[in-house]
Amino acid sequence: MTTFEIFLILAGLLIGSAIDAGADRFARQESWIAGRSRCRTCERTLSWHELVPLAGWAISRGRCRTCRAPIGWSPPATELAGALIAIAAVFSAPPGLVVLTVLLGWLLLALAAIDFRTFLLPDGLNAAVVLLGGAMLAWARPADWVMHLAGAVIGFGLLWLVELGYRRLRGRDGLGRGDAKLLGAIGLWVGAFGIAPVLLIASLSGIAAALLHSVRESKKLSGQSTIAFGPWIALGGYIVWLLQAARIPALSAFL
Ligand SMILES: [Zn+2]
Repeated sequence: MTTFEIFLILAGLLIGSAIDAGADRFARQESWIAGRSRCRTCERTLSWHELVPLAGWAISRGRCRTCRAPIGWSPPATELAGALIAIAAVFSAPPGLVVLTVLLGWLLLALAAIDFRTFLLPDGLNAAVVLLGGAMLAWARPADWVMHLAGAVIGFGLLWLVELGYRRLRGRDGLGRGDAKLLGAIGLWVGAFGIAPVLLIASLSGIAAALLHSVRESKKLSGQSTIAFGPWIALGGYIVWLLQAARIPALSAFL
């Protein structure tokens, strides 16, 4: 492993930490950047060693040192995800695509972290996935842009139709417009043939997470249950892109 690859993985821990804090502030409608991180219960400003990814959480056993309020699993989980995204990119993307792939993964992690908390996928982050996808096409796949543009149109169009159809049938919103925008942005990365596997992974993982959640909360799932779909679209998009970037011969017929 090169020094740069190790740097990317360690940076993933810090980026994950920043994404967790940023998503928290977005959900509370606070400024994204201003101010030091505080305990959400006793408002004490956290010291630097409490903010060290994974270690800070592990040493304090997931609780605030002052008020003992539980911090929750979100910080270590997001930090670990930030590093795993970099590890997956280092091991599957060709050297020329590692940086673009890692950036895509971190953008998708930020979208997922915000959607979990707010059921929103900010337009700005979706737009960043599109811009980065344009850079990837110009850099790595200039001859395939028609297929990738078709992926964006199909991805957006498909979920937009589902959204309209659901509203017509049930008279209420089932799917947010942000989900369609996110699948469109991912479609630019994975192309027309990547949309079906993205949706397959998204649906299966989304259903599995909803079932787990209902077991833990011992609630029955119903048509009224609210589930964030964005995180699972993001997960499917990253997995399919990684497989495409790796260009595994046995999979190339399906993706
Ligand atoms: Zn506290």
